[in-house]
Amino acid sequence: MNIITYPNPILKKKSIKVDVKEIKNKKFQKLCLDMIQTMKEKNGKGLAAPQIGKNIRVIIVDTKEGQIAMINPVITKTSWTKEWGDEGCLSVLTSSREVIFGKVKRYKKINYKYIDKNGQEIKIKANGLLARIIQHEIDHLDGVLFIDNLSFIKNSKI
Ligand SMILES: [Zn+2]
Repeated sequence: MNIITYPNPILKKKSIKVDVKEIKNKKFQKLCLDMIQTMKEKNGKGLAAPQIGKNIRVIIVDTKEGQIAMINPVITKTSWTKEWGDEGCLSVLTSSREVIFGKVKRYKKINYKYIDKNGQEIKIKANGLLARIIQHEIDHLDGVLFIDNLSFIKNSKI
């Protein structure tokens, strides 16, 4: 699959929820597998559906248990503390097609839930890098790129 890059307007759109009835369809299952394959090929830690041109709420996250498709993911609780960390994005490239990195402040710990590829709701906690990846990918579903956070930080002089 081709990855859409900034400033394509698809990346700025808010994505819609997946109808849970659709999850078991072959077409949807294949989409998840194709996204996992694409993320692996590009050595990404996460991939959101808008990055492959689909404005639906699906993200792929590289976890200790492997690459997991998270459908309709929602952050239900965040820690008080935030931390800075380097982020890059397969959709934000230099003119020579290299990933740009920048420091972004994110919640240190999050509780979140999602529907898995079998249609089951999963509730889970994450911290550190995994929490960061999930926040970055959910931002994609809301049309937010990490460079937007960078400019916000710059503008507000934090
Ligand atoms: Zn990204």
